[in-house]
Amino acid sequence: MRIRFLGAAGEVTGSCYLIETTQATVLVDCGMFQGARSDHERNRDLGIIRPEALDAVVVTHAHQDHTGRLPLLRGLRASVHATPATVELSRIMLEDSARIQESEADRENRWREREGKPQVEPLYRREDVDAISARWSGLQLGQTREIATGVQLRFQEAGHILGSASVILDVTEQGALPKRIVFSGDIGQHGMPFIRDPDLCASDADLVVCESTYGDRDHRASAETFEELAEILRQAAWARHKVLVPAFAVGRAQLMIHAVMELAREGRSPQVPVYLDSPLAVKATKLYTSFCELLDDELQNACRVGALARDLAIAKPVLSGAESRELNELWEPMVVIAGSGMCNGGRIVHHLRHNLWRHGVQVVLPGFMAQGTLGRALVEASQGRRTHVRIMGQEVLVRAKIHTIGGLSAHAGKSGLLNWIAGGYQGRTKPKLALTHGEAEPRHALAIAAKARVGVDVLEPMHGDTIEL
Ligand SMILES: [Zn+2]
Repeated sequence: MRIRFLGAAGEVTGSCYLIETTQATVLVDCGMFQGARSDHERNRDLGIIRPEALDAVVVTHAHQDHTGRLPLLRGLRASVHATPATVELSRIMLEDSARIQESEADRENRWREREGKPQVEPLYRREDVDAISARWSGLQLGQTREIATGVQLRFQEAGHILGSASVILDVTEQGALPKRIVFSGDIGQHGMPFIRDPDLCASDADLVVCESTYGDRDHRASAETFEELAEILRQAAWARHKVLVPAFAVGRAQLMIHAVMELAREGRSPQVPVYLDSPLAVKATKLYTSFCELLDDELQNACRVGALARDLAIAKPVLSGAESRELNELWEPMVVIAGSGMCNGGRIVHHLRHNLWRHGVQVVLPGFMAQGTLGRALVEASQGRRTHVRIMGQEVLVRAKIHTIGGLSAHAGKSGLLNWIAGGYQGRTKPKLALTHGEAEPRHALAIAAKARVGVDVLEPMHGDTIEL
């Protein structure tokens, strides 16, 4: 059996693994590369993946960097397996993604036409998304299903976003001992509000493939993080300025609304209006309350009696682009949550352009910012490594306060990842360990720490590398 690393190998985005046995070919995740300009072309190229030859596709969770290239699998005849919440979230995410691809291509084609250049095709269209939509097949956490000849699939809670899962594949090939491969998916933090803690499910594996986004650092404790957020809200209210939050539509947006509500309820911060400036996040937020059973114990009750829905409904939905721009004319303290999560597009870009140069504005970065994104440039500004960032072709001076709030991250820090990995070494086997979904430095730091902790050599595969089992 062979496992090929076709994305998120030495970088964070583009998760994609191809598993080939003598009897079956299975794809795990088919994510979009995000960040660099050259990613545009990389995204178009499926490489060695032949959609019509796949026996099954498995998806860990609904984030774009794990699902964003699924619509490129034209000619796919196999099912796409995911948890029911991931299926619902992915549907709306991919529809939104197709709309963005089409409108970006339209915009580009308008100037190309003026310059007499050839037209471009969008990465994919709505009909490609509809074709994938017909292939989804929901599988509950903890249940087992044969997805291809000799390949059994089970999902376990990954604690990252609603519906997120680790993937356990039990593979039997003729004449060979059965093998187990575990893909962590994205692993969440222990003890975070909202979502349940990740399951330690890597035991008895022959190969564990684990993410390493924050492999070199631990986040602050969530109590400290909430205090930091309360202070930001107090300052914004005092200065009568905005708090801008670039957030993924699924996960961070809902947690931020909940956190702002809780802090106001506890009297730790003033009640300021929250604008949810993302039609996609508005749709995703509604879905959160229809999967009560996936939330943590505390929130399940709030969900059942309708309190969570009431809380989330506090956020004012901003649906049209015109409404979004009108927020620029409002001079009062408010929280604006807008996509995209890494500021590489979406409505957050115009909010940043209008506000970054103002004293008193606060920017909260609750998520990971990949190399090459505007979000990463903001992280560098917060570290004093730059004074300006480039937005829509213009240099903008950063006078706003930038806060990187790792404690609200959907990703486990170094200790959390090590605990998850070590959980797999209590079984009877000493599995191979491969680290992915991390930039070179954090990944290597985690590799050293993991080797010290569990005593195996740790693989750091690059794009196109293969592991034979
Ligand atoms: Zn994710």
